Amino acid sequence: MFHWFKKRRRKKILSQPVPESWDLHFNRNVRLTWELSPPEVRRLQQIVQVIVAEKNWEGCDGLELTEEMQVTIAAQAGLMLLGVPGFYFDNVKTILVFPQAFSRQASSGSGEGQTHRAGEAWQGGPIVLSWRDTLRGGRDEDDGQNLVIHEFAHALDGLDGEMGGNLMFDNEETSQRWQQVVAQEFADLCRARDRGIRTLLNHYGATNQAEFFAVSSETFFEKPRSLSQQHGELFELLLTYFRVDPRNWQRN
Ligand SMILES: [Zn+2]
Repeated sequence: MFHWFKKRRRKKILSQPVPESWDLHFNRNVRLTWELSPPEVRRLQQIVQVIVAEKNWEGCDGLELTEEMQVTIAAQAGLMLLGVPGFYFDNVKTILVFPQAFSRQASSGSGEGQTHRAGEAWQGGPIVLSWRDTLRGGRDEDDGQNLVIHEFAHALDGLDGEMGGNLMFDNEETSQRWQQVVAQEFADLCRARDRGIRTLLNHYGATNQAEFFAVSSETFFEKPRSLSQQHGELFELLLTYFRVDPRNWQRN
């Protein structure tokens, strides 16, 4: 019953015309859309229609949520779904948007205090984003950093029930290959971080394997050529996972 209702509702959402203003938001705020093929743009518009309509959106800390914010966030998340028909981050119900980095009570072995965060993703809970950092990530398409892709990668990671960095592939062999390749890549990144060596993958990926996947996803979409050259197997596995090749979206 629920699926039937959802399917019917989506059909209705997708039959609505796409507002002309969306093109402007894509062009101004989501640079990765510049090189998409016309069918990809059309598909991305549909994904944005569903994400904007189906999620609960809330502005926080006095932020008044606008269409521009919703479209800019949904379009960046939607790039990750261009190869995955029929899925719209169904496990994410709510998106909270703060004007800028927000403070959180941090607790760790060494003590507690306030920490500032640009984004968060919770298993079974909301995705939380700073609008300022969302915009920065979307407008710079090849610095390897994209907050929206990072947080929504955590949501994909959580589809197996936990955000632990294990991805669900179509077959067991590829899933095992993923675990082997990530174990090696993660160890390499930890070593480089400890020695202070600069790497293509942000050192934050050495935090744990969940962050490794989120950081790898940012690099896959924003620096696909470098990733394919320097981390060939990791790139091929992400290509298999996302079923799109972002090398086609970058001019150089
Ligand atoms: Zn993260």
